[in-house]
Amino acid sequence: MSTPDCLFCRIVAGEIPATVVRETPTTLAFRDISPKAPVHVLVIPKEHYADVATLGQGDPALAGEVLATAAAVAEDEGLLGDGFRLMFNTGAYGGQEVFHAHAHLLGGAPLGPMLARDLA
Ligand code: 5GP
Ligand code: ZN
Repeated sequence: MSTPDCLFCRIVAGEIPATVVRETPTTLAFRDISPKAPVHVLVIPKEHYADVATLGQGDPALAGEVLATAAAVAEDEGLLGDGFRLMFNTGAYGGQEVFHAHAHLLGGAPLGPMLARDLA
């Protein structure tokens, strides 16, 4: 179901422009508006799920399609050789800002440590 006040639902609906790099019947991949790496693509399910937890539990097959699209984009962007990072920020501690599930596909340069600080 589409959520009218959701930014990424509006991108899916074509109401807000985005640089789309791949589209499947159920997923969309587009460049992040504020890239944090030479390659920074967001991969989303077209259907609205607030985060990866509700997506993974609500529709595991669709979650798998998001991963398959991310892998295809990684290949298209030439990331398979040197590697990349695939990340789902979730909730307040995860730093999530847009509450429509999305994978960040990051690559094109060494990405450094997994976290800016060691919190353990
Ligand atoms: P989050 O912090 O929720 O994991 O990531 C949200 C991401 O969406 C951020 O990296 C931000 O730059 C990106 N973003 C926010 N608004 C837009 C937009 O209108 N278009 C695109 N392409 N990306 C956006
Ligand atoms: Zn949405």
